[in-house]
Amino acid sequence: MSEYKYDRVLLKISGEALMGDQEYGIDTKMTARIAKEVAEAHAKGLQIALVIGAGNIFRGLSAAAGGIERATADYMGMLATVMNALAMQSALEQQGVDTRVQSAIPMQTVCEPYIRRRAVRHMEKGRVVIFAAGTGSPYFTTDTTAALRAAEMECGALLKGTQVDGVYDSDPNKNPNAKRYDTLNYQKVLTDDLKVMDAAAVTLMRENNIPIIVFSLHETGGFDKVMSGKGTCTTIQT
Ligand code: UDP
Repeated sequence: MSEYKYDRVLLKISGEALMGDQEYGIDTKMTARIAKEVAEAHAKGLQIALVIGAGNIFRGLSAAAGGIERATADYMGMLATVMNALAMQSALEQQGVDTRVQSAIPMQTVCEPYIRRRAVRHMEKGRVVIFAAGTGSPYFTTDTTAALRAAEMECGALLKGTQVDGVYDSDPNKNPNAKRYDTLNYQKVLTDDLKVMDAAAVTLMRENNIPIIVFSLHETGGFDKVMSGKGTCTTIQT
């Protein structure tokens, strides 16, 4: 049992979050900081699975626009998520957290293949599981992967760590009067096309009644606070 409202959650970290202030790639300081957030919550008994994107390295859509066949570009994007997953595994292990990477595209010399029951078992044994290579299929995103794995792992919530502390009615970086929602329902997110997660991810979470909690990864201790119900965030539910 964890000290929090939830015993098991899935945390989606965008590739961009690992970039820190860099233009591209993996900022080891930022990766270590996020790993520390995860380690703190893990120490309080929370079972955590991670899905990491790859926007800091490679995005299928942009590469397709540049002339690489879409499906091939997407496979390249999925491979890039494996690099981020390994960087995060290393950072978590430096915090003393046992971690397993499971890839939806099997690559046994690097990490485990994705096996649902095995992933659950890892978490029960106190290991953090990082799901790499997205869904293993092109034309999807790591947001959809996060929703899929959250449902498969029977997580209590899907946490989306972003650059801002929740969902706003307009871009808070452009509009100083932008208003943050404390709660939202799935339908409003879909109808108003609020750019939180893609529609497939939101729909999957609605069907499985799993709340989506959007919070900032930039506040030190933010993950713990949000998990304790004290942090600033937006909760999307029915
Ligand atoms: N991708 C994919 N299938 C998946 C997940 C990801 O093809 O199930 C590819 C897609 O090309 C995507 C890239 O991997 O652009 C990186 O993922 P994403 O853009 O979701 O990363 P994020 O925006 O979270 O950093």
